[in-house]
Amino acid sequence: MLKIGCHLSSSKGFLAMGETAVSIGANTFQFVTRNPRGGSAKPLNLKDVERYLEFAETHKIGTVLAHAPYTLNACAQKEDLRDFAYCTVQDDLHRLSYFPEAMYNFHPGSHVGQGEEKGISLIADLLNRILEEDYKTTILLETMAGKGSEIGRSFEELESIIDKVEKKQQLGVCLDTCHVYDGGYDIVGNLDAVLAEFDEIIGLCRLKAVHLNDSMNPMGSHKDRHAKIGGGSIGVNAFAAIINHPYLRKLPFYLETPNELPGYQQEIELLKRTEIKYNDLKLIDDNMPVLEKAEAEEVEIKAKYEGYIKLQMAQVEKVRKLENKLLPEDLDYLNLKGISLEARQKLDKFKPHSIGQASRISGISPADVSVLLIYLEQRR
Ligand code: FE
Ligand code: FE
Ligand code: ZN
Repeated sequence: MLKIGCHLSSSKGFLAMGETAVSIGANTFQFVTRNPRGGSAKPLNLKDVERYLEFAETHKIGTVLAHAPYTLNACAQKEDLRDFAYCTVQDDLHRLSYFPEAMYNFHPGSHVGQGEEKGISLIADLLNRILEEDYKTTILLETMAGKGSEIGRSFEELESIIDKVEKKQQLGVCLDTCHVYDGGYDIVGNLDAVLAEFDEIIGLCRLKAVHLNDSMNPMGSHKDRHAKIGGGSIGVNAFAAIINHPYLRKLPFYLETPNELPGYQQEIELLKRTEIKYNDLKLIDDNMPVLEKAEAEEVEIKAKYEGYIKLQMAQVEKVRKLENKLLPEDLDYLNLKGISLEARQKLDKFKPHSIGQASRISGISPADVSVLLIYLEQRR
């Protein structure tokens, strides 16, 4: 099932956010940890947290995404600003320890004229200091549009940060569709190639969340102006491809589009309608009698995305088959795939950095590796 939500105001507390999310058809949400200027946060209301956690369990609200204040700059020139960023992140992570399923999203920072190299090393310093403290929350670096002196405008820049961090296992990446498109990555014309590049440089295993935003500007413009879904240069078809992509479809998606709640609700409905129901693939297969029985609206939408759906069919079908094989609990998936014990030990030992690398080590195809990694993670 599609994990989808939007950015919500945290002013009324956690339970209120959970209730709002459910009321607009979302099953996750994002919020800013404190006022956007990064000042002190209200003390945590533990009663509210407790009630939220109960609510979240009942309503199956999965991973939520806490967004660090936008004004933090881990690579500011002045030491007191960097200290402020460190103290804020520290306090945020302390609060998030009450939320076992939350992740923490973080803009790497702006080097403000000190140069990329300096910026990258200051950001890595902050992360190394923070991660020494053994917080459980996964920290996500967001892909940035490259406005001004923003770090994180390319996959290479994000990887150079990750590379300098010791406890890498707690680091992930959040891909913002508006930002990467602004950064010059063609997610509209060639999503597969962009994901392959991400995998080669950072590793798709690190990709933990996606921000869904259309862009007011053309590819490569580095402007960072979000548009409503379908109201910008990215377009609905590209979003349908993104949420259904075999490598992405299990991730949580967060809308940060210029909307009030009713607008978010509409976008969530739109995206849900474009979701390929993997178990209903017969509907769009050559099984016409089933298709005729489908509701008129369903048919219309499927027709609209027919081109895309056909293109993805082979890949989708493959993933679905593998998933079906994973269902029985005692199934030894690895044996089934003919993966030797040796290949498995290699994977365990080398903790592959990317799906491409895992594929080379184990000798199985990248698509199979992505399913395998999900499987191994569940087994842990
Ligand atoms: Fe952000
Ligand atoms: Fe974003
Ligand atoms: Zn943005």
